[in-house]
Amino acid sequence: MRMKQIVVSVVGLMVAGTLTAQTPADTMPTVIRAGRLFDSEAGAFLGPREILIRNGGIVAVAEKVDRPTGARIIDLSNRTVLPGLIDAHTHLLYLEGVTGGLTMEGIKALVNEGLPLRALHGAARARTFLAAGITTVRDLGNSGRFGDVALRAAIEDGSVDGPRMWVSGPGLSPVGGQFPGLKPGYESLAADEYRIVRNPAEAADAVRENVTMGANVIKIFSNNTPNAGYLTVEEMRAIVGAAAMHGVRVAAHATSDAAVYRAALAGVHSIEHAYQVADSTLALMARNGVAMVPTDIDSVSIIQYLSLANPGQPAPAADQVARYLAGGRDRLRRAVKAGVTIAAGSDNYLDLKRAQGPAARRVLFAYHQAGLTPAQVLQAATINDARLLGMEHRLGVLKPGARADVIAVEGDLERDFGALERVRFVMKAGTVYLGR
Ligand SMILES: [Zn+2]
Repeated sequence: MRMKQIVVSVVGLMVAGTLTAQTPADTMPTVIRAGRLFDSEAGAFLGPREILIRNGGIVAVAEKVDRPTGARIIDLSNRTVLPGLIDAHTHLLYLEGVTGGLTMEGIKALVNEGLPLRALHGAARARTFLAAGITTVRDLGNSGRFGDVALRAAIEDGSVDGPRMWVSGPGLSPVGGQFPGLKPGYESLAADEYRIVRNPAEAADAVRENVTMGANVIKIFSNNTPNAGYLTVEEMRAIVGAAAMHGVRVAAHATSDAAVYRAALAGVHSIEHAYQVADSTLALMARNGVAMVPTDIDSVSIIQYLSLANPGQPAPAADQVARYLAGGRDRLRRAVKAGVTIAAGSDNYLDLKRAQGPAARRVLFAYHQAGLTPAQVLQAATINDARLLGMEHRLGVLKPGARADVIAVEGDLERDFGALERVRFVMKAGTVYLGR
């Protein structure tokens, strides 16, 4: 058994060694000179700092660091420097036209696009996330039968440039997945995109299956909107228990207040969306340490969406947009007030005719428009997301021991949040992908 494992790992190394990395790893010691530096743990913008990097990791952060002889110096003294951003809710292998709807677009992805092409499309999208400064994603399903695992492997072996990935495989869902309107005899279409579970034993089994196939996070549907199903508290407890035995965490899609309440009660780690959450449920989430991932849309993206969905119609007025977004913004402010941890996640899968990475980054503008300060928004997209992944000492933070995932924007991010659209430098694990 042990021998076999060694043989397998050696073969794995040989295969990886034959590939030419898309961007060769930078290995020389490096010093970054930062004009301003965002301290994600303190939620504070600091003055000039230097970051010493060796072997892809951060060794020191100080006003002046010892410069090893021959070190490469990267001058970002006119930039705001921050940890690489994390997006805790992506679908890299799924892109939906604005008029299609989940069932038709989902069937197209399964039947017309197919898994190999979905993974290749995902690879192209992954590059745009990295270029946008998003160096880590938690990809939550809608990737067919483990296409997300394949994409993660391609990024890890260097053949595709992209963010670090946590991947769920197919989301665990009540009957029908998120495909409403399937006629008898065609339920298997939903079972190709989702892992259907019908009782607690099956739910635990699905966790074991997904982890065995490579998932390192579990995605579930406490309710499977737009279908009308739901998982019971017992089913979700079985999922949380099995996930804990594998050391992986659970993200629950939940839109109605009841669905959020049941998932929080069952002990999931994050609630995705929580559109209709009540204050009493927010209090439960705060008590149980359940994070909220508000997958909100900002005022610019909603106008893009409406004009693409209604061609020829006049663009909506600002007050219409504000009315449309008011409920979501209110529930985000209520969540913050209740003491719920906000973890940033875009759920960006709509085709807004823009590269997917920058489009996903717009979720941070939605939080800012709802009233969160730049520091609160950036904490959501760095340290809070890192904690959700259980990686708070390695990711989402610029300190010794962390991976060298570092980005820089042009402008003073504290006073001009729009500077986040001007990412000029991206480093992941010490390798520079943008701004060489
Ligand atoms: Zn989603």
